[in-house]
Amino acid sequence: MASLLNREVVVASHNPGKVIEIQTLLVPHAVRISSAIKFDLAEPDETGTTFAANARLKAVAARDSTGLTAIADDSGLVVPALGGAPGIYSARWAGPSKNFSMAIERLKKELGAKNPSAHFICALAVAWPEGPCELFEGRVFGTLIFPPRGQNGFGYDPIFRPRGSEQTFAEMQPAQKEQISHRKNAFSKLSKRCFGMEPKAKTFKSS
Ligand code: IMP
Repeated sequence: MASLLNREVVVASHNPGKVIEIQTLLVPHAVRISSAIKFDLAEPDETGTTFAANARLKAVAARDSTGLTAIADDSGLVVPALGGAPGIYSARWAGPSKNFSMAIERLKKELGAKNPSAHFICALAVAWPEGPCELFEGRVFGTLIFPPRGQNGFGYDPIFRPRGSEQTFAEMQPAQKEQISHRKNAFSKLSKRCFGMEPKAKTFKSS
């Protein structure tokens, strides 16, 4: 089994927020992180039909350009009553101006009186220089609620209430969301496999 310890790892994302988030999750481990921006990597088209396929193609492209171990993720919101939409098109529903009010309005309209159950998925791919790609997937289940609530977070957070909580993701403190998110779940799997341990637990104050 390959290990990420003491490696230089490139995070295949041009989104500084995502690079910081991944960096934070890897802080407890001895990993040197570089971003795609440092290497001036091109952003590959997300032509996959699944989250895993898109994460894999981004990681493999970064690995092939740099010769380094590369990590990439792909994530989104899945609504079974809408046939899985917006799914891999979650970011694209918000358009080039990243207008999530518009995406949320569209979801509300298409959902109507259908079942509001939903989940977020995060697929993480690690492309090793010396071997094949490994994939890890995390999910968090919950319910869509309208109107949107809360000011924190991003994307669909104001309409997603995770199971067992009275608050939407956007009403929670970021550290509280981070404990239960799809990204955290995927990272826990990656950490167990690539470091032989869970990421260190963080404490947070509930609001
Ligand atoms: P990606 O950057 O291609 O992975 O697109 C992810 C998209 O899925 C984001 O733009 C959001 O629309 C949505 N998304 C993924 N994770 C979250 C989350 O934790 N909260 C809210 N929206 C999310």
